[in-house]
Amino acid sequence: MSKTLSFPPVYQHAFLQASENLRQSLLLANRYQTPVTPVNYAVWYEYVSGDNQDLVNSIDTRLKKNDPITPEVTQYLYEKYVLMGMPERLSNTNNGLKLVVDNTLENISRVEAAASECNEGLTQSQVKLESCNDIDELKTLVSQILTNTQQITNSSGELKTELTRSTEEIMKLRQELEAVKEMARTDSLTGLLNRGAFDNELQKLCSKGHAFSLVLFDIDKFKRLNDSFGHLLGDKVLQFFASLLKSHSNDIHIAARFGGEELAMLFVHCRLEETFMITEKIREKFAASRLKKKGSHESIGQVTVSAGISTYQNNDTPISLIERADQALYRSKADGRNQVNFI
Ligand code: GH3
Ligand code: MG
Ligand code: MG
Repeated sequence: MSKTLSFPPVYQHAFLQASENLRQSLLLANRYQTPVTPVNYAVWYEYVSGDNQDLVNSIDTRLKKNDPITPEVTQYLYEKYVLMGMPERLSNTNNGLKLVVDNTLENISRVEAAASECNEGLTQSQVKLESCNDIDELKTLVSQILTNTQQITNSSGELKTELTRSTEEIMKLRQELEAVKEMARTDSLTGLLNRGAFDNELQKLCSKGHAFSLVLFDIDKFKRLNDSFGHLLGDKVLQFFASLLKSHSNDIHIAARFGGEELAMLFVHCRLEETFMITEKIREKFAASRLKKKGSHESIGQVTVSAGISTYQNNDTPISLIERADQALYRSKADGRNQVNFI
């Protein structure tokens, strides 16, 4: 299994694959003289594993131009492609929020100072009013009182405008935070939930103990497809399959990228028979779709998917459910692929 693009990053490489990535990363660190710090290692590791296509492209472009791989470059690549730009977005939101709070506090103090000045003026007018017995002096005092009152009205009007602006700004920041939160749950290639979010949903369903089923899908002979038509076409096929899952989720069931070319669905309040029927429909539709290369009429041939189903039993854990679905999936592969099994 590979790395799941998510924030924070999730790696699912088996021991041997991870060791091989380590070996190749060290070779590159040595060739480009980048010290093996955690940041540099993460960048080279993602580069050699090949799961993070944008990072691979960015490094390849630099290497082709003989641009040096400096610590600034690796830090930039790390934040942009490994941490998916999250530190910058979080820091922007944080700074924005701080600015709004500072501005609001400043406006409140300004209005407070103006109000206290007016209050002082009014108190003085009150004292003078008590001993006033001249009509002209009275007129001046009334005019002073009116001016002070008008100043207070103006200041509170300004404060209201400022507070409305701050509220709008806070709403925008809230939306940005929601977007960041959503992005942290989403797989960027397929738009489905990523592995971290999927694990959370599975855990929640297990602790509720409601009836639900888990389906693990694995596209058949996907490596061969990549080798024959290129990685980008492989990505398109994954996106197409993800859209099939989405269209069968009816906004109730949960579809996710489990890892690499493996996708998963959680059929909520769904027992085995119904889950099996929907999974079969998805499998048939995928096998029947005649996918073509972009901009050409050349078919890429039949692409199929195998699936394994497990259904929640009392005391099941996410691990036990995944293990059973995985065994069922293994049976589908062993029995010839393009089929659905359950355990
Ligand atoms: P099987 O029928 O046994 O599942 O064969 P397979 O070729 O699908 O399985 P294998 O595990 O040998 O290869 C999986 C391939 O999926 C290798 C990997 O490069 C590819 N892959 C994983 N993630 C992605 C991705 O995001 N995009 C593309 N294009 N390929 C991916
Ligand atoms: Mg696989
Ligand atoms: Mg496969």
